[in-house]
Amino acid sequence: MEKFDCLIIGGGMVGATTAVALADLGLKIALVDTHRPDSDLLDNPDSFAKDQAYNLRVSAVSLGSEQFLQQLHIWQQVLDWRACPYRRLGVWEQSLSYAQFHCDQIKQPYLGHIVENHLLQASAWLQMQHKPNISILAPATLQSITCYSDKVIATIDDTEIQCEILIGADGGQSKVRQMADIGTTGWDYQHSAMLINVTTEHPQQDITWQHFIDGAPVAFLPLTSHHASLVWYDKPDKIKALASLPNTQLQQQVLNHFPKRLGHIDVVDKAAFPLVRRHANQYVKGRVVLLGDAAHSINPLAGQGVNLGFKDVKALQEVLAKAIGSGEHYASSEVLQRYEKQRRNDNLLMMTTMDLIYRGFKQPSGPIKLLRNLGLFGAQRLGPVKDKVLAYACGL
Ligand SMILES: Cc1cc2nc3c(=O)[nH]c(=O)nc-3n(C[C@H](O)[C@H](O)[C@H](O)COP(=O)(O)OP(=O)(O)OC[C@H]3O[C@@H](n4cnc5c(N)ncnc54)[C@H](O)[C@@H]3O)c2cc1C
Repeated sequence: MEKFDCLIIGGGMVGATTAVALADLGLKIALVDTHRPDSDLLDNPDSFAKDQAYNLRVSAVSLGSEQFLQQLHIWQQVLDWRACPYRRLGVWEQSLSYAQFHCDQIKQPYLGHIVENHLLQASAWLQMQHKPNISILAPATLQSITCYSDKVIATIDDTEIQCEILIGADGGQSKVRQMADIGTTGWDYQHSAMLINVTTEHPQQDITWQHFIDGAPVAFLPLTSHHASLVWYDKPDKIKALASLPNTQLQQQVLNHFPKRLGHIDVVDKAAFPLVRRHANQYVKGRVVLLGDAAHSINPLAGQGVNLGFKDVKALQEVLAKAIGSGEHYASSEVLQRYEKQRRNDNLLMMTTMDLIYRGFKQPSGPIKLLRNLGLFGAQRLGPVKDKVLAYACGL
């Protein structure tokens, strides 16, 4: 039976980054995914054309995440392909309550970049391919796990693999989490989000904004040149109906519903996603460790999901590095629990903050509406506190 130090299930943005980060510690890694992403890019990275159609799945990647990805040599390739920097972040409900955050407040050249998920994932896979201590098993599927006090044995298709640590980075519906019998707490937000790729009348912008309309936000994420990604949050029935419209009719709906500052747009593509909150009751159980969406699915309102995942990876890398450096066994439960201790409360804080904002803005009542607008009005004038909030949101 082949043996590895770490077996990672899931090679999405978080799982693939985990493989690179832990391989840098000298550990022997295997990564399993049911899919091999973007074969063309992996075989020939230069085949990417900057004017090719945008993928619908994009993420706001914070400055803190970028710095970590840079250390792992994953970030530069993403920039070489395509990414759009944003320097400002605007939020408002009524025009008088407009709050804006600017990268100058934290003395940085920008707050982050909007990137396509598949490019970030492909760049991490390219790095994995350069590391002789990473074995990639894809396409392949996890069938079962058997946990012992000193190892885990996993069946991948019909092959057994032994590992010191089994890492679940297999997304919100994590099989690893289910097989390890780790429960979750959470709920359905009774809202869906529609992602809409558009071409814009306005040239490339350096701002990402959110406008709350009757409790349901709409958001603008800039992409390069005359492109942008829009997010429309609403009740699932409404989003389903909108998503089924032909692009020309959806364009009219967007122009009627979004604020005028959007300017003229043409709809290129769209898709709807349910919004759920899910938090694993444990991130570590014996030798099983959860990271990224397998551990926490968060409301995408403030674009924090994958950024929290990268913070998980960084924390796990640091915890294991320290243990190896001090001669401790890196896979012991004392060591792995340090990762959970560092990350669970931080993720919970961010999830709860997002929920408070989301629920707060859903309340239609006059006094609460007045209060939240006063809150935004005050936020614009918070001075050093506002700078600290911004630095935290940027993962710095
Ligand atoms: C509408 C929307 C907008 C968002 N916007 C943002 C944003 O702006 N910024 C941000 O930070 N986050 C955002 N997020 C969240 C972000 O997309 C997720 O946090 C991120 O994709 C999670 O990455 P992951 O690698 O943990 O999981 P996933 O991306 O789900 O990857 C899981 C991987 O595991 C593989 N897999 C699954 N099951 C198995 C199995 N049994 N065996 C082997 N492999 C398996 C899959 O093929 C996949 O490659 C958004 C989410 C949504 C829904």
